[in-house]
Amino acid sequence: MNSSLTKVVLKSGKDQSLKRFHPWVFSGAIKKMYGPVNEGDVVTVYSNKDEFLGLGHYQVGSIAIRVFCFENIEINYDFWKLKFKKAFKLRESLGLTNNPETNTYRLLHAEGDGMPGLIIDFYNGTAVMQMHSIGMYLMRNELAQALKEVMGDLLDAVYDKSEKTLPFKANIDPKDGFLLGESKTGVVSEYGNLFNVDWVEGQKTGFFIDQRENRYLLQQYAKDRDVLNMFCYTGGFSFFAMNGGAKSVHSVDSSGKAIDLTRENVELNFPNDPRHEAIVADAFEYLKDIQDKYDLIVLDPPAFAKHRDALGRALQGYKRINARAFEQIRPGGIVFTFSCSQVVSKDKFREAVFSAAAISGRTVRILHQLNQPADHPINIYHPEGEYIKGLVLYVE
Ligand code: SAH
Repeated sequence: MNSSLTKVVLKSGKDQSLKRFHPWVFSGAIKKMYGPVNEGDVVTVYSNKDEFLGLGHYQVGSIAIRVFCFENIEINYDFWKLKFKKAFKLRESLGLTNNPETNTYRLLHAEGDGMPGLIIDFYNGTAVMQMHSIGMYLMRNELAQALKEVMGDLLDAVYDKSEKTLPFKANIDPKDGFLLGESKTGVVSEYGNLFNVDWVEGQKTGFFIDQRENRYLLQQYAKDRDVLNMFCYTGGFSFFAMNGGAKSVHSVDSSGKAIDLTRENVELNFPNDPRHEAIVADAFEYLKDIQDKYDLIVLDPPAFAKHRDALGRALQGYKRINARAFEQIRPGGIVFTFSCSQVVSKDKFREAVFSAAAISGRTVRILHQLNQPADHPINIYHPEGEYIKGLVLYVE
């Protein structure tokens, strides 16, 4: 089985993590490759004692192989189709696949669904695929076809948005575009709130689905509060707050485009509602002087650290913005604070927020500890997959 594939043998002792189903092989762990390998090829991985370990995609880089199968079976069209079937079934059991109130969800979450290098977000009929590995990218048409077979009439179009996520060194010059069908931007619904999603121009796959449950929680806290939604992007937290009966909502982002999207989305849900105001501003500047204008503040910044070497600076960033919020929020105020940097652990983030609280000298209590929703599952053998960390805090 799989005898035509190039065999990769690991150095002695480097097989442990694969034996515990962690899906990455680092380049330094490889002892020898028996045969030619091109980027994106499927290879078989063996231990130094010639034990089969797994099958994965090869790529030049620090993560050299991304393992998608720990059994020695044939990798063919049906194999990928089964992966999608399982991913779909999980979302079905979460009540997401047939829910008119929420018709957008993550359909496939890379390592969390045993498919390192691929994420798929579903927007009411359009699947947006984002490939992070060459192996997945090379199979994109086959994958789109397999997905269509699994989802049938639920799926109208598949859009490939990998231009910015593939390693540029690979020289494959990817272009974003439809792999199947065609659909322009669309209006999707999350807990009955409407969003205009632009998968062609938007960040990530167009929308941050991963904050769905946290937005819903915010709604429960919003009544009669003056809300600041900092780093608002498409404005999600803002109109969930308005839904919850907020007295006023200020949405702030440094990107003018994000502010336009926020305005559009607020209009869709609350036409001509005087409670909302959208402001283009830098967070660090804006937070310098908010005085006691707010009693509910959301801080959902972009990943301050994308790499380990930026960790120290990122933690300073979290500390600074949180300290500003704690210092100025009204007594009895609520802060929803997040980090989506994968390299910032839950403990490190909490330490940064702890330091911020100490700087402010206020009494701060944790009400909720938040993370990503169930359609972004975390493979227990790949704890790196836990990337959203959030705290809801009560500031006296
Ligand atoms: N809360 C959003 C997602 C936030 S994404 C949601 O629920 O969908 C992060 C946002 O931070 C982006 O829109 C980006 O434009 C914005 N941003 C990045 N740096 C910023 C800064 N220094 N000040 C204000 N906004 C910033």
